[in-house]
This record gives sequence, C-alpha cells and structure tokens, in this order.
Amino acid sequence: MLTRLQSSTAATPYPHIFTPLRVGRTELRNRLIMGAMHTRLENEKDSGAKLAAFFGARANGGVALIVTGGYAPNRAGLIEVGGPILDANSDIETEHRPIVDAVHAGGAKILLQILHTGRYGKHPDLVGASAMPSRINPLKPRPLSSEEVEQTIEDFASCAELARNAGYDGVEVMGSEGYLLNQFLAVRTNNRTDKWGGSLENRMRFPAEIVRRIRARVGDDFIIMYRISALDLVEGGATAAEIDEIARAIEGAGADILNTGIGWHESLIPTIAYPVPRAAFRDAWIRLKNVVSIPVVASNRINTPELAEDIVAKGEAQLISMARPFLADPEFAVKSKEGRREDLNVCIACNQACLDYAFSERVSTCLVNPIAGRELEFVERPIEREKNIAVVGSGPAGLAFAINAARRGHKVSMYESSDEVGGQLNLASRIPGKQEFFELLRYFKRQLHVQNVAVITGQRVNADQLTRKGFDHIVIASGIVPRIPDIPGINHPSVLSYIDVIMRRAKVGKRVAIIGTGGIGHDVAELLTAPYDRGETTEEFLRTWGVDPMSTVAGGLVPPEDEVMSREVTMFQRGKDRVGSRLGKSTGWIHRAKLRRRNVEAIAGCEYIRIDDAGLHYRSNGVEKIYPADNIIMCAGQEMLAELMEPLKAFGANVHVIGGARFAGELDALRAIDEGTRLAYQL
Ligand code: NAP
Ligand code: SF4
Repeated sequence: MLTRLQSSTAATPYPHIFTPLRVGRTELRNRLIMGAMHTRLENEKDSGAKLAAFFGARANGGVALIVTGGYAPNRAGLIEVGGPILDANSDIETEHRPIVDAVHAGGAKILLQILHTGRYGKHPDLVGASAMPSRINPLKPRPLSSEEVEQTIEDFASCAELARNAGYDGVEVMGSEGYLLNQFLAVRTNNRTDKWGGSLENRMRFPAEIVRRIRARVGDDFIIMYRISALDLVEGGATAAEIDEIARAIEGAGADILNTGIGWHESLIPTIAYPVPRAAFRDAWIRLKNVVSIPVVASNRINTPELAEDIVAKGEAQLISMARPFLADPEFAVKSKEGRREDLNVCIACNQACLDYAFSERVSTCLVNPIAGRELEFVERPIEREKNIAVVGSGPAGLAFAINAARRGHKVSMYESSDEVGGQLNLASRIPGKQEFFELLRYFKRQLHVQNVAVITGQRVNADQLTRKGFDHIVIASGIVPRIPDIPGINHPSVLSYIDVIMRRAKVGKRVAIIGTGGIGHDVAELLTAPYDRGETTEEFLRTWGVDPMSTVAGGLVPPEDEVMSREVTMFQRGKDRVGSRLGKSTGWIHRAKLRRRNVEAIAGCEYIRIDDAGLHYRSNGVEKIYPADNIIMCAGQEMLAELMEPLKAFGANVHVIGGARFAGELDALRAIDEGTRLAYQL
C-alpha cells in the first residue's frame, strides 16, 4: 500500500492532495471534491445525458469525488416549482443512471446532495422550522408540524435509499447556507416550543436524526457527508461552541465526512465572490477539524492547487471542496497532478456565468470556459483542412478564438496594435479586489505559446496588408473605444477617461465626479476610494466586513471597522433607474455596499450642462447645480471599433466580426469569450 501511494504521488508537485484517502469502505483517489452547484442542468430536457457529459468530463479530469446539485427529498423542499427532486416518482434510469455511470467510468465517486430549501423555496408550499420569512424571499413559510418533521426525516432517508439504488456512492446532507436544517439549528429561525426547538439539544435533533435515519436505512457501505455551516454570518446564528457541538452530534449520528459551508444565503457578507481573499475563512474549518475525528472538508474561495496543497499539508483539513474551479477547468485535478499549473484555467470568482445565470433562470456555464454545462453543444470535430487565419485584436474575444482555432489545427496569426495582449482584461486585473483576472490573462498568454499562435504586437495592420497575406479567414476582434459623451467642455483639462485612470495611472484630485455608473464606473469609484492599490488581505477583509471567523459571538458578526477616505467621489447617470441595478446579480450588492461604506454618492436622473473650471454643471430634478470636481472621469460606455470591416469586405476577404467590434452594448468578457470560442469551433 505504502509503495503504491509513494509511486502515485512521487511525480506531483502537490503530494498531499494527491494522496488517496479511505472513507468507510471507499477509497478516494485524491483529496479533491467537486462541490455541489445548482447549474439548472437538472431542469433541462435530457438532463441525464447533459449532466452525464458535464460530470463525466470532470471525472475524466481526475477529481476524486463529485457532489451533484441539490435534489429535494419531497415537494416542500423544492428550490422552485419544477426543481430537482428524488422521490418515488423519479425516473432513476434516465435521470440518474447515466450520470453515475459516466462518473464511475471516469474513475471518480459521486454523491447525490439532498437539499431541503425550507423557507428559501420559491414555491407556494413553503415550510420552515417556524413561520419566520427570510429577507431574500417574499413568501412566508408555514411551520412544519411535529408529524411533518418526522415525515421529513423519513423522506431524507427514502431519498438516500433511492440514491443508493441509482448507483450513487453516497449522499451529502445539506445542512448549511441557511437551508431547512440550518433553520432548525439557529434561534434566528427556530422559535418552536416542542422537542425540535428551544435548547441546542432540541434544535440539533432534526439534522442529527436525519443522519441517523439515513445510516440505518442505507447501511455502512454508503458515504454520508454532512455539510455543516462553519460560520453563519447572520444575526442570531450559531456560536463556535454550538457549531462544535453540532459537529460532534453529526459525527455521532453516523456521518463519514464533514463538509463545511460559510454564511447563509441571506448574509450581508460576501463569501465566494472575487472581493473575498482566497481561503479567507480558513479559521472556521481549522476549528472544526479539531473537534471531530472524521475527515473535514475545507471550502470557499479555494481555487488553486498550491492553496489546496497548503491546507492539506498543514493538516487544516483532509479534503478540499471546489465547485466553480471545476467549471473553469474540468481537468483541474489531472493538470495539477502532472505539474501543469501554467495550463490551468483558474476560476476568477466573478460569478457572472455560474451563479448569476442560475439566479436568472439560465443554465450555468463559465466566463473563462463557455463549454462548461454545454458539453454536448461544443463537440470537437476534426477540421477539414488547416486554414491560415488572422485575428485582429487580442482582447478576450480574439484570445478565445485564437487559442481554440489553433488547438483545432489551424494556423493563427494575432495582430495587436498596443504592446500588450489582453485588451480590456488588462483593465479589470488592475482594480483592487479583481486580481484574479491576472490568472485569466496568464492562461491566455500561456495558451498562445502552447498552441503556436503567431503574436504580432505594436503594429496597426490595415486591410491592404492583411489581404496581401492571403489569409483564408480574417477575424475582427478589435474591440471597443471608450465613448466620449457630447458634453460642452468635454476637452477641459480636468476630464479624464477611465483608461487614463486605470491603465495610465493619471493623477486624480481629491474631489471626483464619475460620469456613468455601469460596471466600469463602479470599478473606477472603487479604485479611487480603495485604501490600497491591491486586493484586501484576509485580515483587512474580515475587519472591514465585520467578521469573526472564530465565531466567538453568535453568527460570527462583529462591528465593521471604518475605512479612511482619501477622496470624495460622486457618480452620475442620466437614467432614473437605481444606480448599480445592472451590475451582476450576485456581486452588484457587494460593490454597492462597499461604495456606501466609503460615502460614495450616486445621483441618478441628471442632465449634463457643461464642464468648466468650476466643475461639472448638471441639472437634477429641474434644478441647475455645480459639482466642484478636481477631475471628471468618463465611464460612459463604449463604441465598437471595427474600422477594418468594410475595407476588408471590399477586398473580398472572408471576414468575421466578434466581441465588442460586433456589438459594443453590454459587452463583457463573458460574451467576448463565448463568441470567440464558438467561432473557433465552426471554422
Ligand atoms: P455600461 O455598463 O454600458 O455603462 C455605461 C454608463 O455610461 C451608464 O451608466 C450610462 O448611464 C452612461 N452613459 C451611456 N451613454 C452616455 C452618454 N452618451 N453620456 C453620458 N453617459 C452615458 O458600460 P461600462 O460601465 O463601460 O461597462 C461595460 C461592460 O463591462 C458592461 O457590460 C458591464 O456590465 C461590464 N463590466 C461589469 C463590471 C461589474 O459587474 N463589476 C465591471 C466592469 C465592466 P446613463 O445612460 O443613464 O447616463
Ligand atoms: Fe468561476 Fe466566473 Fe467561471 Fe463562475 S463564471 S466558475 S466564478 S470563472
């Protein structure tokens, strides 16, 4: 056994995460778990086939254990009407067997997550521990009767039994993030007076009984992983002493593994988006590791193999759960094991195509990997013949096209007028808290090299030069130019563009007006008010958001520390809609909260009159006003830059236009990468 382990880990730079682990009678081939994610693939027609392709790709990519998205054990536990459920009416053969078979064929194990949403459900038959609604759901739950509590326990056990019959290796019982089990555990949501409420012993009876009943039903040869809320991050949440007690009770009830979750969905503290430093909540899982003897899983903002290795090597946790990183790169495990860190497409924690899509009733995918969740759509087919292709522009659209077209076997030349590839990605990575975008730039640059794309920078090519080279296809990905609004005085020396501020680090005064409140206006406001020109450290993050990761107080919430402001910033927009309402669903609130804390004002419904030495003259509610700004920064959106298109067409070239060059409105890296990748799959 020892010899086999040594030989299986000897060549890897991450020996601790590639050491197998025995759980019950099952051996996990390494310490990497793909955590549960609600992708909405479960709601799709042919969900079994789509999920089999999705999870199968991750299993083939070397992950040890996969956890499905949440399946309700009964109708009251549904996420929404028509949401995933595993009960006696489910079609196991078409909905589940293909998934299990695909994962096992890839050498991984798979658990079905049993999720009862309780008061978070978006359906009329809403239940909870008590009749206490949540701030994130307008629907009011009705309390479960004592008989219904008993029946729910039974439904969890039956669901686990069905999962075993379908071939799953175990189940994960979802006890965190503020769902039903958490609702029973916290005094915030449980004011019952029967044996399921009151003392901690009573409140934890429900989750412990669920684990006990499942174990009794499925036997020892079936993994039970319990996801505990290691830090509630809500008022009236649990203290460390209570969480430790719950963990011991769950272990005593028969769980094999203790997974961890951070924060309830209604928490006002970010827990997984990019402003959260990597592994910011490590104190919470370390604490749990010391109170139970079953393996503990670390989770939340872990996205690289070196971080995972560090956690396991230091003995902070035995297993690492990552969900989004496996969307970003299905081969995370195998690339890491083989020491191909540079080839890893790292999750940048943007949430734009995973969570934000799921929240907008769209199937999740990934900004950095648009194939995720669409494995049956992006089918690799051999090219008919090698073509000679030019790409003009090296922003995300051009990069995604170039690396995928070259990988498929085409000869690709990329022309970039500036000295640096990356386009708008260079902007994003310079915003404090958005440093993860560097990973994307690194990945693209590495792939340009690996795929032998000829990169010609610092040269503005024209249509004549391009056509003379005889390319089979010319892809215009020249992107956008910042919009210059038609405001009298726009050439005043106080006016700067967002490019001046972010890329050229132009000197900016103490009083600033920002014209435009889109994603870039918010980014500039954050950049100009940030106390540091880097992302926050974990200590700074915890202090400014008011988090005690040791949960010495209920919920782990402490008063946030004030930030020192060095500038007064006001944002302006013409539209009357709520400022920032078009930012990402799962990240917009974080930006708005940060700027509120930094006293950044936002004025909607403005009419710009002029700019002069006195500042910005504008009309608001019919009244003329002056904002005496030292600088006025234009963040007024973009216009497309596709000047080569018509001349190239006139020369009869085979032209394609993608990204901002095709349509600048609401352009972001997500659409750009998607369009570039799709075109590369077509040629
Ligand atoms: P945007 O989201 O389109 O916002 C442009 C802003 O400029 C709006 O507030 C608009 O407000 C204003 N504007 C438009 N035309 C104007 C004009 N002629 N005169 C004065 N103001 C004008 O564009 P962006 O902020 O440049 O962002 C570009 C893309 O990147 C977007 O898709 C965005 O979602 C994405 N992005 C997102 C984030 C993020 O979510 N954190 C960060 C960066 C970029 P009014 O028309 O009401 O004045
Ligand atoms: Fe990560 Fe963003 Fe992809 Fe979601 S969309 S998996 S957060 S890179």
